[in-house]
Amino acid sequence: MKVGIVGAGSVGATAAFAMVMTGAASEIVLVDLDAALAKAQAQDILHATPLARPVRVRAGVYADLDGADVVVLAAGVGQRPGETRLELLGRNARVFGEIIPAVLREAPEAILLIATNPLDVMTEIAAKISGLPAGRVFGSGTTLDSARFRALLGEHLGVSPTSVHAYVLGEHGDSEVLWWSGASAGGVPVAEAARQQGRPLDDAARARIDEAVRRAAYAIIAGKGATWFGIGGGLARIVQAIRSDEHVLLSVSAPTAEVEGVADVTLSLPRVIGAGGVVSTLIPTLDADERRALRRSAEILKEAAAGLSL
Ligand code: ADP
Repeated sequence: MKVGIVGAGSVGATAAFAMVMTGAASEIVLVDLDAALAKAQAQDILHATPLARPVRVRAGVYADLDGADVVVLAAGVGQRPGETRLELLGRNARVFGEIIPAVLREAPEAILLIATNPLDVMTEIAAKISGLPAGRVFGSGTTLDSARFRALLGEHLGVSPTSVHAYVLGEHGDSEVLWWSGASAGGVPVAEAARQQGRPLDDAARARIDEAVRRAAYAIIAGKGATWFGIGGGLARIVQAIRSDEHVLLSVSAPTAEVEGVADVTLSLPRVIGAGGVVSTLIPTLDADERRALRRSAEILKEAAAGLSL
């Protein structure tokens, strides 16, 4: 599996490192506007390969993405002082306007995996610019948020998070929806599992978990300025699922025809990930509050994308 990564900053390089440690890729090419950075990151990561997996890691230019199966887009520009969110989005959209045609010229068959924030809107931009068929362009979405939700539920219940099924839906951001009514441990709804384990999920416990999942990025940014390990691991997990045609359900972000009455919006739902990218999507069965919250999340995303006049 040849993987290209455009944007060799913290997120792109950590994703590459995670792919080396898990063996998700056999060849990785790092491309960045800052060629010296891409070269340094590639060398640093390559030096871990004899101790992990024999992945061929190098820096390159767009021509080196030739034949890539997956290209991760982790490039972006930071917010300037005084710049609005929409202006920042406009600049990042222009970055994608340069990168995506260059990637597709070299790797016309590649799946595009988006990691640049604001994730859902950047995924929508990538889908529009690339014109790729549904399934071949999608974003990491709430994959990481769902993992955080599972980890915290597992901790509360005293069971391994691998035995907990739980998803975060909608925006990868403030309006995301923790799908409590669909969360289960060993097939038992979490509220009942918690009662049986003698650790009831009362309002305070739910509020604590909700806050910890929803505000995780803020807490990490307050401590170290940005986040990269969680998302790097999430990107490697998605690439692994593509590589092994796994058909695992992950909450990735993709253009969606309709969600809770909102048409043509890009957000996260549980989606089957296989060799072709997003193979299919499951529509969750939500309670009334969750439906309202998902509709609101979809409306917020729709408005953010509309501001860009895509
Ligand atoms: P993050 O924490 O999201 O990884 P960084 O600033 O560390 O953010 O990384 C973003 C990377 O994207 C930088 O290394 C930057 O050079 C790169 N980048 C920005 N614009 C482009 C572009 N047009 N083409 C390729 N890489 C780009």
